[in-house]
Amino acid sequence: MNLSSPTFDSENPALTLDALGFSATWVTAFAPFAERALLPGRVVADLGPALRVATDHGDVLAELAGRLRHHATTRADLPAVGDFVALRPREAGRALLEAVLPRRTRLSRQVAGGTTDEQIVAANVDTVFLVAGLDGDFNPRRLERALLLTWEGGAEPVIVLNKTDLCGDLDARRAALEGVAAGVAVVPLSAATGAGVDALAPWLRVGCTVALLGSSGVGKSTLTNCLLGHARQATRAVRTGDDRGRHTTTHRELLRLPGGALLIDTPGLRELTLWAEGPALASTFADIESLARQCGFGDCSHRQEPRCAVQAAIASGQLPPERLASFFKLEAELRSLALRQDGRAQAAERQRWKSIHKAMRHFRPRR
Ligand code: GDP
Ligand code: ZN
Repeated sequence: MNLSSPTFDSENPALTLDALGFSATWVTAFAPFAERALLPGRVVADLGPALRVATDHGDVLAELAGRLRHHATTRADLPAVGDFVALRPREAGRALLEAVLPRRTRLSRQVAGGTTDEQIVAANVDTVFLVAGLDGDFNPRRLERALLLTWEGGAEPVIVLNKTDLCGDLDARRAALEGVAAGVAVVPLSAATGAGVDALAPWLRVGCTVALLGSSGVGKSTLTNCLLGHARQATRAVRTGDDRGRHTTTHRELLRLPGGALLIDTPGLRELTLWAEGPALASTFADIESLARQCGFGDCSHRQEPRCAVQAAIASGQLPPERLASFFKLEAELRSLALRQDGRAQAAERQRWKSIHKAMRHFRPRR
């Protein structure tokens, strides 16, 4: 059966499973599924209504098989980006996703509700780069939580100290880390200039899977682009040359790096970062918050309102414009997080995602 009319994807030509990290141990784990004439694949993007799965025959769009939906007892049983899965081929370019292979590692968050449910944001990540910016404040507590999250999921943490080009006293920063993260590899680098990035090579071998965690503004996007060798944006907008519509955009959350490693960059990871930091966020922009109390309007957005104390502080040089830019960026990330968590938004999503409608309702947190 023809699993897929090969999708042309200039950024990510059809990958062999080998290149996707499907090593000998996975082949062994897959054996029972191979006997049932199922094909192996790796989830490269969660498109909402379907999953994009890379296979030896190119990418396919996969829907969850009814059996998988009905037998899932928690959200963690449902496939996530990075999972190795067993597929039943259907018409060209489509497949049914029948099973998820047991994960070797996971990055997950607990979804609050009547019962605590686990949501996997990335599966089978070998190494998590915990990124901190040398221009900002170190927060050991925050780092502790990120380390814990990584260890709990079974992945190896590596601390990346970004923006060495801005930092005069690297030794002091390294010393400050010792109490919190003894025994964890520390790699200082500059994602902007590329200096020191080569030191990440041991974790970026062919078929290795990595993910980045860190606060907004530490340089995760810059490092991603640096590792990719080009701007990420270009890989997201390209559409394949067939007529299957929007589902065939080349959107990927599992990216292949030029050296052969795989980088997971999902919205879920960005949310995980925010979630892992929790209350620390409130104090991050204490300077802007305190200026905001003097704005003319209580709901001032600090963009173009009259009598805005934040804009006044920028005009007078008291507040660096980059600081406000970071604040806006974080605010936007939080807003999109809130939107995703909004019950009505979820309801609309469920209607679009008819095939897993029942599963989603079943797992909806009690209020
Ligand atoms: P993200 O929120 O973690 O994705 O952070 P970004 O990649 O968007 O970076 C935040 C800001 O830091 C941007 O203005 C970047 O240009 C800047 N930046 C990132 N890496 C470096 C670096 O190594 N050196 C310097 N000087 N700036 C950097
Ligand atoms: Zn204002």
